[in-house]
Amino acid sequence: MFFKKIVMNIRDLTIEEIKTELNAMSEQSYRAVQLFDWLHSKMILSLDETTNIGNSLKKKLVEKFDISFPSIYKEYISNIDETRKYLILLNDGNIIESVLMKYKYGYSLCISSQVGCNMGCSFCASTIGGLKRNLEIYELLSQVYLVSRHNNIRISHIVIMGSGEPFNNFDNLVKFLDIINDEKGQNISLRNVTISTCGIVDKIFKLADLEKPLTLALSLHAPNDVIRKELMPIANKYSIAEVLDAMAHYFEKTNRRITFEYSLIKDVNDGVSNANDLVNLFKESFKNRHIDFNVNLIPVNVVKENDFERPDMSSVNLFKDILENNHISVTVRRELGKDISGSCGQLRASVK
Ligand code: SF4
Repeated sequence: MFFKKIVMNIRDLTIEEIKTELNAMSEQSYRAVQLFDWLHSKMILSLDETTNIGNSLKKKLVEKFDISFPSIYKEYISNIDETRKYLILLNDGNIIESVLMKYKYGYSLCISSQVGCNMGCSFCASTIGGLKRNLEIYELLSQVYLVSRHNNIRISHIVIMGSGEPFNNFDNLVKFLDIINDEKGQNISLRNVTISTCGIVDKIFKLADLEKPLTLALSLHAPNDVIRKELMPIANKYSIAEVLDAMAHYFEKTNRRITFEYSLIKDVNDGVSNANDLVNLFKESFKNRHIDFNVNLIPVNVVKENDFERPDMSSVNLFKDILENNHISVTVRRELGKDISGSCGQLRASVK
């Protein structure tokens, strides 16, 4: 039987791993730092861009590794703000979506962690076609590198909140973080990285054990299990109490403020009683624990495949006031790039 040889992309390797590979090729270790610098600091697309790597080493590298890289397929620029959305073409023809946002503190890129998603959240466009596959480490990196190169900017913040559930791609995610944080590469502080999960409890504990200074955001979206189960199938596996306990543990272990994302959906979870239930949920769940957290209210993005409606701003403000009056820190997410196809997954779906 014929098996296709799986070749690793060279960008999936840390400096130490490159050293090991070079030693096995009878090459000197210092070349690993040079190579890592070209790949991850200068973000080259091809070894032809290098100036201090000899042809014989290049030949050995090409024989052993996949050097290819994704490319930008399409760019959409908002006329309202400076948000830019990118469709990125992967080597196998799949397309993923990344969003660049400009803030006072710098550029932030929202990246995808999987091609599609199988978590089935009812308000989300990314899950409509199901899950195709996990992204490889170099594909996670490619979103940062391609958008940085294209705009000639330094991306200082990363939000892993695009298509996919990052914890279902856990090992690649962790190695991506190590490489993107490496001071010889992009040197992006992990304090500037936010991971958003729909609430896979065992992985929240696993991430907490790594004690990395990442910001963790939970897609909560409901004040109780009944509503959460209607919106998010993951709620059938883990109760809201279990998820909030895991989040509190993450704060206690890392001392990093945690975030709860709450999409406000008209007549589903946006009422006064829902806001009061949410206050009581936090009081009950965090009783006798000093947990620093923020609630991020997101008026829902309307997806044509469901009937959800966005609440009017008076309901949003009332919901916010109830939380604030109970000493809960609240923000309302600003809508960016409104004119270039709303929520994540929508652009990709429209191009497919
Ligand atoms: S919200 Fe996140 S976890 Fe849920 S379906 Fe969308 S991409 Fe997947």
